[in-house]
Amino acid sequence: MDENKEVMSNNFIHQFIEEDISEGGDYYGKKVHTRFPPEPNGYLHIGHAKAIFVDFATADKYNGLCNLRMDDTNPTKEDVEYVDAIKEDIKWLGFDWEDRFYYASDYFEQMYGYAVELIKKGLAYVCELNSEQMREFRGDLTTPAKSPFRDRPIEESLELFERMRNGEFEDGAMTLRAKIDLASGNFNMRDPVIYRINHMKHHRTGDKWCIYPMYDFAHPIEDVIEGITHSLCTLEFEAHRPLYDWVVENISAESKPRQIEFARLGINNTVMSKRKLRKLVEENYVSGWDDPRMPTLCGLRRRGYTPKSIRSFTDQIGLSKVNSIVDYSFLEHCLRDDLNENAKRAMAVLDPVKLVITNYPEDKTEEFEIENHPQKPEMGTRTVTFSRELYIEATDFMEEPIKKYQRLYPGNEVRIKSAYIVKCTGCKKDDNGNVVEVYAEYDPETKGGNTPDGRKVRGTIHWVNAADCIDAEVRLYDNLFTVADPEAGDEDFVEYINPDSLVVLNGCKLEKSLENAEKADRFQFMRQGYFCADSKDSKDGKLVFNRSVSLKDSFKK
Ligand code: ATP
Ligand code: MG
Repeated sequence: MDENKEVMSNNFIHQFIEEDISEGGDYYGKKVHTRFPPEPNGYLHIGHAKAIFVDFATADKYNGLCNLRMDDTNPTKEDVEYVDAIKEDIKWLGFDWEDRFYYASDYFEQMYGYAVELIKKGLAYVCELNSEQMREFRGDLTTPAKSPFRDRPIEESLELFERMRNGEFEDGAMTLRAKIDLASGNFNMRDPVIYRINHMKHHRTGDKWCIYPMYDFAHPIEDVIEGITHSLCTLEFEAHRPLYDWVVENISAESKPRQIEFARLGINNTVMSKRKLRKLVEENYVSGWDDPRMPTLCGLRRRGYTPKSIRSFTDQIGLSKVNSIVDYSFLEHCLRDDLNENAKRAMAVLDPVKLVITNYPEDKTEEFEIENHPQKPEMGTRTVTFSRELYIEATDFMEEPIKKYQRLYPGNEVRIKSAYIVKCTGCKKDDNGNVVEVYAEYDPETKGGNTPDGRKVRGTIHWVNAADCIDAEVRLYDNLFTVADPEAGDEDFVEYINPDSLVVLNGCKLEKSLENAEKADRFQFMRQGYFCADSKDSKDGKLVFNRSVSLKDSFKK
């Protein structure tokens, strides 16, 4: 599998790891071992793709391993639906956790054991301050925090902690706190709460527990149990690292994982937090988690994004220690790059008007072989049929041309892509003055669209054969939000939803070869952009295509 080795641009995480590991690639006698720990309370988004890439590709680079761990220590109604979707998305991106799939909730008993160990070492105590009092006694930069329960005897804490577990107390009545440093400049170290009471059903452990560990206590233990060597996470955990290290130091753990933080990915004109994405879904602003306008991986996949484009995106934006916002157009640029190279070409008319070639025989049909990709003969050819009546884009005809217009207007010659040169002779209009048919005559000497006499024909237009083209619905997408940062405004972010983020075109005409398009196929519709069949709504007899990305690149390097 060496040829499949993930190439990941060098970055500071790799420099840290290289400082850590021996010449043989070991860290405390272990191979580099990372994990991706999503909370199964929503679908993965493009930000997660960055973390997935960092976790899996880093392990790969050092011949190590990467686990997939559901970080489900919060007793919420996490759903199997989310767990399955998370797995599907990671597989789709091309990463593999093999047999290392875990639930953090499976470690509750061990976590409890480590908490007891800390109490016994005099490093944790049961505190009866409620959350309000806790806030009140938190202190400030010059005043230490306080707790009247800090010096309670070990035996008493042990007994109370056990009774907490047994369900003898109400939510919020007491907590278990690590005994660290009430005067610490880092407030996370001021005797942080490590267990709280919460009488809530857990989606996997049911009613077994009514006390749950806090993230800062649970996460290092999860890493220790799984033998993680490098725990890569986002920047907001930087100030929690001393606590992470404290937990690792003070429990009787063999492995010594190291936490390294990197900047979160933010993209403009969208929102990324699961809570906000869930609101969009639940309040029907979008059609679902996989709405092609969503920054979720399932949404991007349905839109036509390729794993390759997303991996190239995450690799190119690189890793840094400073949060920043990436232009949405850069994501589009990465997709365009991939599809320009790999998508088959086809012809589709989105806003059709009929073109009648008046001097072409009524009963004649010709076939032309057109290459699927102009630079890649290995992608083969397809047959398109040509006859007297075609559909062309309504915008490719103007009765009275504007300046520099090189398409069809009376008297002008245009190339019908790969077929013939035609000269426009006029049009027919309805009572409202709308053009309903355009007329032209073809030059039989120009078969294939060539001009043997060398005359210049400026415009080339795409077309489909009226006799056998297929009808389709085409969905055009734009940014979901009209402003770069919908979270920054004074209004609720949904107020900034772009009303034109979805435009549905009906009665579009596609060349016949697209009839058998597989759902995974992606196409460049000549002069229009890149499209794919919608994985949910497109059916035999009613094709629906999504515009994945337009042709024009607005991204400025
Ligand atoms: P959200 O705020 O979107 O709900 P989260 O951090 O709560 O995200 P988790 O399921 O806990 O989501 O995330 C799993 C992993 O993905 C974490 O290690 C987290 O740091 C990482 N991650 C989440 N969002 C991003 C992002 N925008 N950029 C990079 N990594 C991210
Ligand atoms: Mg989270």
